[in-house]
Amino acid sequence: MKYLLDFNLEEFKEELVKIGENSFRAKQIFQWIYKEVYDFENMKNIPSPLKSKLKASFDLSLPKIVEEYTSSSDGTKKLLVSLKDNNLIECVIMKYNHGNTICISTQVGCRMGCKFCASTIDGRIRNLTAGEMLGQVLLAQNLMKERISNIVLMGSGEPLDNYDNVMKFLEIVNAEYGLNIGQRHITLSTCGIVPKIYELADKGLNVTLAISLHAFSDEKRKEIMPIANKYSISEIMEACEYYIKKTNRRITFEYSLVKGINDSKEDAKALGNLLKGKLCHVNLIPVNEIKEKEYRKSTKEDIDIFEKTLRKYGVEATVRREMGADINAACGQLRRSYLEISN
Ligand code: SAH
Repeated sequence: MKYLLDFNLEEFKEELVKIGENSFRAKQIFQWIYKEVYDFENMKNIPSPLKSKLKASFDLSLPKIVEEYTSSSDGTKKLLVSLKDNNLIECVIMKYNHGNTICISTQVGCRMGCKFCASTIDGRIRNLTAGEMLGQVLLAQNLMKERISNIVLMGSGEPLDNYDNVMKFLEIVNAEYGLNIGQRHITLSTCGIVPKIYELADKGLNVTLAISLHAFSDEKRKEIMPIANKYSISEIMEACEYYIKKTNRRITFEYSLVKGINDSKEDAKALGNLLKGKLCHVNLIPVNEIKEKEYRKSTKEDIDIFEKTLRKYGVEATVRREMGADINAACGQLRRSYLEISN
């Protein structure tokens, strides 16, 4: 059976024509779906014979919640979600004043190998389809009984390592016939796959690009991120300049602070030098400690000094508020602990 959420409007029109139906029905069906009607029976303007055909050919189920944790401090929800083939992914829903934000996964596992990240420990199992990414957003909307207004692609997986599916997902999220979420409300985070950054810039999508930098020099970066062996920081910076030129969007640089590895005042100065004068913002993330690795969080004092030092270079920086700290919301941790217990 085909997964209906995997189709954009044009593709679904073709699917309907293939089963002898009129393509105008596609838009009607999409209107129901994005009004959160997932049972073909309840699609009132769809004739019964077509309902039967749809039921026979298309699956419109959402992924299933296996575990749900809610932070008692800030209402952040962390979900462990199972896909049709029983693979597990995680997503996080954060309540901000400006609306609900969902952090979605783009792959089961990840093959980028960043040293401090739990998602990548067993490598990449598979890419998610566009529909499986959409399913996470619809599931969250259904659970919250409120609109999701912002999406960050910062869960498990490397979005630019699953480029085509992620692009289709962004198209449907953005489309008026789909979720109608503005590109400015979407952030795509990447470890820095340079050719794909150019491709994304040329698409003219205007989503916010977040680059996981985590170090100021190639040498240091190679110690914690294998992708640094493939693309240098200067190549990433050039690609970012291109992205800024094309989209006029400010770039976010993510920098996870790890005690004794990349959190000294010298690191901050070098990072300040690298980024000064750029249209950017630095998101400092106190590293989330995972039990498989010995990396430790920087002290509050060091984080504070790091932030202030960057500011001296005119580089805007904020420390990411630790949402849902009481529910262990770090990348890939929930899936790992679940798999360990059930195996
Ligand atoms: N693959 C993409 C997106 C997924 S991770 C990327 O690399 O950007 C989202 C962010 O969380 C990345 O900046 C990643 O490096 C960071 N991250 C992963 N594990 C972490 C941990 N244990 N503590 C702090 N940040 C972490």
